[in-house]
Amino acid sequence: MSDPAPGGPGIPQHRELVTAIPGPRSQELFARRAKHVAAGVSTTLPVFIEAAGGGILRDVDGNSLIDLAAGIAVTSVGNSAPEVVARVTSQVAAFTHTCFMVTPYDSYVDVCERLGELTPGDHEKRSLLLNSGAEAVENAVKIARSFTGRQAVAVFDHAYHGRTNLTMAMTAKNMPYKSGFGPFAGEVYRAPVSYHLRDQLKGQEAAERAIDVLEKQVGTDNLACLVIEPILGEGGFVVPERGFLPRLAEWAKAAGVVFIADEIQTGFCRTGDWFACDDEGVVPDLITTAKGIAGGLPLAAVTGRAEVMDAVHVGGLGGTYGGNPVACAAALGAMEAMEKHDLARRARHIGAILAERLTALQADHPVIAEVRGRGAMMAIELTGPDGRTPDPARAAAVNQACHSAGVVTLTCGTYGNVFRFLPPLVIGDDLLNEALDVLTEAFTATA
Ligand SMILES: *Cc1c(COP(=O)(O)O)cnc(C)c1O
Repeated sequence: MSDPAPGGPGIPQHRELVTAIPGPRSQELFARRAKHVAAGVSTTLPVFIEAAGGGILRDVDGNSLIDLAAGIAVTSVGNSAPEVVARVTSQVAAFTHTCFMVTPYDSYVDVCERLGELTPGDHEKRSLLLNSGAEAVENAVKIARSFTGRQAVAVFDHAYHGRTNLTMAMTAKNMPYKSGFGPFAGEVYRAPVSYHLRDQLKGQEAAERAIDVLEKQVGTDNLACLVIEPILGEGGFVVPERGFLPRLAEWAKAAGVVFIADEIQTGFCRTGDWFACDDEGVVPDLITTAKGIAGGLPLAAVTGRAEVMDAVHVGGLGGTYGGNPVACAAALGAMEAMEKHDLARRARHIGAILAERLTALQADHPVIAEVRGRGAMMAIELTGPDGRTPDPARAAAVNQACHSAGVVTLTCGTYGNVFRFLPPLVIGDDLLNEALDVLTEAFTATA
């Protein structure tokens, strides 16, 4: 099953470097960037891109780089996937905006219908469309507060939920997301998550530890919702032990607390299922989605139980651009591509390759304390010989070596010591294996 990449504007699927990385043209553009773009916006790899497709990003100097980032889990169907391009092109020529709250159009309704079908649970659902993941998380909290008449929000250690004021409060990590940006929104409480490498607890035990914090420090009568990423994203691709999520969902149900799964990074086939909650059959009351939803166009959603979603008064939800028709067309195209090419199966196949190669790498490099993840959302955590002390310096060195060799890799984690792999789901096997060869060389070179 070495399906070549569909999609992409016919870009040859191989790595080729014709200059040093970054090349002279990228360096020129980067100098301009520094003059005109706010310094607070960071850059992982300063090459400017002029075309992309399948598993390749081609830069302005003519270098072809292997993409293991997918624009942070966004272009799961590939860049400029044909299904997305066709629908976006005809929509953009028909009309670009009316505002769904002024005069509606059917693609918004179509996306909501598809979200209702694809998300976990067969209860009656409603959806709300927005522009960004953070906006979806904010709205999910608004809806849960409106439904319960309660105010407190429970989040977890190492969580990432966005950069707006409320979602900054919900995000765990200070630098770079929060430092100097306070005061933060109130009524946000943090509980410990299940992180086996660091706590050695079984899922059920870790759940009871979190529940104890919420019951004793917040009080269930005050708690509107619990918001959790089923696999932590920016916080280090931490996979909670089995039993953790089901126990929390069961507890939330009994306590009248709205269970919100933030599947903004894990959703849309990334983990080998339509959604990461499917793995243990967890059915959230509300689910937030964005990133992979629309093949690269900005769209986000809150989907959930009809009675929870409809608790909000008319006019209480919305926004000028939310569910823009071009973004909706893209989402319908992306979902069509996921179904047509069975990208959930493809994610599992990518996950099998990653697991095998990364486990072999770990055998040669004890700095890799753990290989973890699911489907095309895998990571390795780097530590000292004790298997705990984070080694962000080595992660940075390996990352740099990969970038210089033309492979776009990303790190993450509260301690910056986790390497994460998020290739487009349409990457070919050969290209993926070549990227992992480069990674292997980078570990040897930095030993
Ligand atoms: C990226 C992300 C967000 C924020 O999404 P934006 O579109 O950047 O606002 C929220 N939650 C999770 C889990 C994410 O990965």
